[in-house]
Amino acid sequence: MKILFCGILIGILGMSGETRLVDDGHSLIRVVEIPAEQNLLESAVVENFPPLQKFREDVSAKTLTDPFYLLRRQRVLFETKFKNEVPVFDAVLDEKLGTIVPMRNLEAQLLEALFQFSEVPSEFQAFILRKKDSYRIYWLGSNRELTPPRTENVLASLLKDVMQEGWTFFSHLHNHPFIFDNPFNDIAGTLIPSGSDRTHMKNLQKDHGLPLPEEMWITNGFHTIVMSREEIQQLR
Ligand SMILES: [Zn+2]
Repeated sequence: MKILFCGILIGILGMSGETRLVDDGHSLIRVVEIPAEQNLLESAVVENFPPLQKFREDVSAKTLTDPFYLLRRQRVLFETKFKNEVPVFDAVLDEKLGTIVPMRNLEAQLLEALFQFSEVPSEFQAFILRKKDSYRIYWLGSNRELTPPRTENVLASLLKDVMQEGWTFFSHLHNHPFIFDNPFNDIAGTLIPSGSDRTHMKNLQKDHGLPLPEEMWITNGFHTIVMSREEIQQLR
């Protein structure tokens, strides 16, 4: 199973490269090194990613996918239960926090790897390091429903080692899945740094001694929010 998964991700990313894998039964860490080509940060042509295309068709049959519609929809639900989150919604809606762009090739490839790994709505993270003309990507995925991968202790020491070799922390990416059976009618899929995302970023610094990435990206399979290091620093 592990070897099969490696093969799939290499296939998706269309490259060979160093491969290491940590498996705790529900989470995987996959490492791949790829050229930092310009087109990775250009908008994805969804036809090139059949599993992503299928995902988009399924979601689009159930909801509008305009990112601002989704944010406004969730904001109403949060206004009563999680009022402290409302200012973050407003910052994104007013375009004062982050920039929302159509999903790009790099996010599409890394999200597709999750679809190959997990049959249930789940989450992945990617730590994207950069050195000269290469990216080294540490991809963590969970195959438990709506459970983020918990392998950070292992990963943090790996990352600290490679940063000694001149790799810099370019971006942290994760996905926000859609949930259509939530009893509170919250279908999620919103491009907003959640409370736990903000804590996560702080803990990477505080508990693991990692620097903040240059950018933080969250994707929902349609669009991606891109936040700068300065914006991440301002998040409370
Ligand atoms: Zn999140």
